[in-house]
Amino acid sequence: MKPLGPIPAGFAIIDGELAIAGRKASDLVVEAGVTPLFVYSGALIKRRVADLYAALPSRVALNFAMKANPYGPVLQLMSELVDGFDIASAGELKLALAAGVAANRISFAGPGKRTDELEAAIQAGVTLNLESEGEAVRALEAGHRLGVTPRLAIRVNPSFDLKGSGMKMGGGAKQFGVDAERVPAMAREVIASGAEWRGFHIFAGSQALSAAAIIETQAQALALAAELAEVSGAPLPHCNLGGGIGIPYFPGDEPVDLAAVGQALGEALENVPQALKYTQFCVELGRYLVGEAGVYLTRIVDRKVSHGEIFLVVDGGLHHQLAASGNFGTVVRRNYPVAIASRFDAEPSEAASIVGCLCTPLDRLAEKGHFPRAEVGDLVAVFCAGAYGASASPAQFLGHGPAPEMLI
Ligand SMILES: *Cc1c(COP(=O)(O)O)cnc(C)c1O
Repeated sequence: MKPLGPIPAGFAIIDGELAIAGRKASDLVVEAGVTPLFVYSGALIKRRVADLYAALPSRVALNFAMKANPYGPVLQLMSELVDGFDIASAGELKLALAAGVAANRISFAGPGKRTDELEAAIQAGVTLNLESEGEAVRALEAGHRLGVTPRLAIRVNPSFDLKGSGMKMGGGAKQFGVDAERVPAMAREVIASGAEWRGFHIFAGSQALSAAAIIETQAQALALAAELAEVSGAPLPHCNLGGGIGIPYFPGDEPVDLAAVGQALGEALENVPQALKYTQFCVELGRYLVGEAGVYLTRIVDRKVSHGEIFLVVDGGLHHQLAASGNFGTVVRRNYPVAIASRFDAEPSEAASIVGCLCTPLDRLAEKGHFPRAEVGDLVAVFCAGAYGASASPAQFLGHGPAPEMLI
């Protein structure tokens, strides 16, 4: 038997079944007309955003990193809830604009921006977080060609990283950002070019659960921003402090102490040096805003036994839930929170592995979990499916195609 990850708060039981935003899993499947499917709870997204605004100092804006969930209705909802959007491609720019996000609320980070992507962003009036000196030259040239003043910030590759984070994106040699020691010279050039100077973007990692680590990283980011601003020779209009607040996926994971993070950031901001006195700050979060609000529902199509082990084979799999299968940036496979949605109130009675329908041994959604006895036709719920699910999985693999998504 292997433990399962913790089921996020906010779900209920109705008639013995899992209920999402007050609606039974089986009713949602009937409405969709098909399994598997993704269901996102608007109420849980709103609650999460409200908790963040309550915890963060009022001087800090909140951005949604839309790569976590680019589903149109989620973007529209998020557009009403948060201050800004972080995008990482011209494709995401289109989706954000189509969802009604004003261009002046959008910033565009990411290595390898093509010239046509830079042009689209400059034309629209989006802030570019420059990832290199070469990109700065191309952005300035594009601005001249278009006759539009580009809005430019520099993404800094800090010398620190977010401790305990699932994905390190700062510290040492990286494809992201510009090494901190080269930033002042580059900032002076960008400012002198006549571009609209927007400041710094300092992102040091993702998926951390330790408030202490997040607090330490934010303090380091503030200190670095102050130092770079002082030697850049201009007031710092804006500073994106990164994000990194993670969600519990695995057995033993605990939620981040958000109040502690907010309080420490508030105290740090009260004591900033002169160079940051008038700076606007933001944090950028993806999975923390949407991850726990999403559930992937899939149906058991076969129940079989091999060498005494029970396998529940479902009609979904890693083509929609690559991360839950353990194949999206994890070193050791551990179980996500997974449950039998159609017997959500039943006591566990047997060990079973829930596997997907793909013809590869990688396709495991739960390994030797403790579940109530489930039969063909029962529904399985994979939780934490609101981020890096539908859009971060190889939907075309083996010809299955994407799963429908629903925001309720
Ligand atoms: C991926 C990414 C995020 C979002 O990360 P989460 O772990 O989903 O919060 C934020 N900022 C940048 C620059 C990213 O690349």
